[in-house]
Amino acid sequence: MKMPTRERREVSVRGIVQGVGFRPFVFALAKKRGLAGSVRNDAEGVHIEVEGATGDLERFLRALEADAPPLAVVEAVAWRPLGVSGEAGFRIEESADGLHRQALVSPDVATCDECLSEILDPSDRRFLYPFTNCTNCGPRFTITRSVPYDRATTTMARFTMCRDCRREYDDPQNRRFHAQPNACPECGPKVRLLDKFGHEMRGKPEDPVEHAARMLRGRAVVAIKGLGGYHLACDPFDEKAVKALRSRKFRQDKPFALMARDVEQARELCHISSEEKKLLASPARPIVLLDRREDSGVAEDIAPRQKTLGVMLAYTPLHHLLLHDAGVPLVMTSGNNADEPIAYRDGESFDHLGGIADYFLLHDRPIHMRCDDSVMRVVKGEPYHLRRSRGYAPAPLGVAEGFGRHILACGGELKNTFCVAKEGHVFMSHHIGDLENYETLRSFREGIEHFRGLFDIEPEIVAYDLHPEYLSTKYARELEEDGMPAVGIQHHHAHIASCLADNERPSGERAIGVAFDGTGYGTDGAIWGGEFFEGSIEKGFERRGHLEYAPLPGGSAAIREPWRMAVSHLIGIYGEEEVVRLPLAAIRQAGERNVRLIARLVERNLNTPPTSSAGRLFDAVAALVGVPGSHRTTYEGQAAIELELAAKGVSESGYPFRLRDDGEGWVVETREAMAGAVEDLMSGSASGEVSSKFHRTMAEVVVAGCERVRERSGTNAVALSGGTFQNMLLLDQASKFLEERSFIVHRHRRVPTGDGGLALGQAALANAMSGKSEVAKS
Ligand SMILES: [Zn+2]
Ligand SMILES: [Zn+2]
Repeated sequence: MKMPTRERREVSVRGIVQGVGFRPFVFALAKKRGLAGSVRNDAEGVHIEVEGATGDLERFLRALEADAPPLAVVEAVAWRPLGVSGEAGFRIEESADGLHRQALVSPDVATCDECLSEILDPSDRRFLYPFTNCTNCGPRFTITRSVPYDRATTTMARFTMCRDCRREYDDPQNRRFHAQPNACPECGPKVRLLDKFGHEMRGKPEDPVEHAARMLRGRAVVAIKGLGGYHLACDPFDEKAVKALRSRKFRQDKPFALMARDVEQARELCHISSEEKKLLASPARPIVLLDRREDSGVAEDIAPRQKTLGVMLAYTPLHHLLLHDAGVPLVMTSGNNADEPIAYRDGESFDHLGGIADYFLLHDRPIHMRCDDSVMRVVKGEPYHLRRSRGYAPAPLGVAEGFGRHILACGGELKNTFCVAKEGHVFMSHHIGDLENYETLRSFREGIEHFRGLFDIEPEIVAYDLHPEYLSTKYARELEEDGMPAVGIQHHHAHIASCLADNERPSGERAIGVAFDGTGYGTDGAIWGGEFFEGSIEKGFERRGHLEYAPLPGGSAAIREPWRMAVSHLIGIYGEEEVVRLPLAAIRQAGERNVRLIARLVERNLNTPPTSSAGRLFDAVAALVGVPGSHRTTYEGQAAIELELAAKGVSESGYPFRLRDDGEGWVVETREAMAGAVEDLMSGSASGEVSSKFHRTMAEVVVAGCERVRERSGTNAVALSGGTFQNMLLLDQASKFLEERSFIVHRHRRVPTGDGGLALGQAALANAMSGKSEVAKS
């Protein structure tokens, strides 16, 4: 009988392969095939030497990728032959210190099924233990202080493992082998329930989690320390509890998220498709916007007037135990006052939340990085990010072409995220928030420092938005003054580049870019937001057309008070004297005095910049049909969101509009569409009908603009980006009409369409520009 050929190979595995149970997995795989050799972590990932029969080696290599542990992301497996050594057995080797700086820090991961069954098993030593985790699940990003990722560099450093935990940690065949946050009731973090004065709650039930659940069923608001910050919880079926939470939080209309124990419980609240189920139950456990059931029974104040509910599943053992004890889903809204970022430091939680919460369910494992819940929905069967944060950050995003230099991109002002990029990876930050307050600006600065350390990035270029007043821009300019090369990137160019990079398109590929959003600084000083471009990441983008400019009366005041935009448009169409006499509810509500005030602002051009913003056009129509948020909004984008909610499905026809040539390009005249909406309303059309027709009109505007650009350029791919494409009715129709006309449509897939995705585009464009300057120098 012929002996099979023996071989030895050196294998390197790159990607997220450290801190995710990869070495024990390799160990088990080698044992199963009777292979000899060793495995260790190295600077790039995991290094393996393996020896055995050729066929077994081949199967081993295939399994490295195909059967990798759930949290591993294998980006590349490479190997080269070595001389056969004849060694026997397979070992896991300790990694050399200082080597794993390149290794990637994993996002936080929801409790795995095995850990969940342990905490519900009375015979298990972790029965009811709220901090149970293993190599397949648990906190990662939020507890990591620095790299290499090791217990000593996490906020678990203060807890010394007991003998049992240590044994698991040291055993390569154990699920907890090198699980850095490993803990048990004996040695790990502990949970406590305090009243709002900071006094420990004693008496029955003794278990703080069970006690908190009882308080929640008794109408209390409880602040709960989670993975990336505090939540505020209450019983969603109790109208009074929900009302109390709203008024104490100073949050009028913005929906509250809910947390359910499992998919079955979530189904009692919402209709859930198979794709939505998959997303809900994924290890990232995002909040998913789902169609609410008529009979869900939740208090109206949870999500006033919304057709959807934001639902997530329990993602830590503490949540599982709490929901188990409560027996109902819970409101789980971010623990903050109106506009502040989510609280995450123990000291500040009482200061910030003392006026809101009746009780505090706390623990002593510090949170190093604040990280909000991610928010998503499913669009045409695909996940669509509205906020990319916990569970996703800081996982790297691959791009079509690598980065020649280390880049820092600072993002925008609202819903800020930043990113750092090097080689083939972009590391998008967690959701930082609106930079207008001190606390958020601090997390922005600290976040950037943290990411530089985690990913070993020394930025050689910093990219920023052209808006001179954005605090992210000011931060970049400070770096520039210290000598770092800096590039300003136009807001909507960044959106389009972001969408293309998100879809891993090559940088030389030309595309039509449709950037619809609320506000962005234009190169002509106007406020842009309804733009059509053509170009590529490599060569840059040129503006071909845009929505016609309209006066934005009072600047940012017009964003908070959408009726101003309606009056602005109507004055442009009918003139002041006619507008005050229009028999429209919106005009009556605004009042003659206000209409005339707007007319003066427009006439004298006082704090009234021109804007092509699509978001503002939606605001204007929202105000015309009279949605609740049209007088004064209580959260960003409210009027446009309510206009979408008002729509009665897809309309058969839209309002008229035209494209008019205008010097270098063309503009979309929407006055006929506005006038059409006014006539419909005056002749008694329902607001839902007008809204549907307007949505269809805007989708047709997108198509007409793209057709015009394609006629002259031949470009056939379209990138849809900007916050306005959070509007599903617009996105669905625009995509459908474009595809019917044989356009290739790129929507966002991995980063948000709103400003949360901006930094990716800034980085891509800055990279392309740095390439050019190199060419220029040589
Ligand atoms: Zn686990
Ligand atoms: Zn222990």
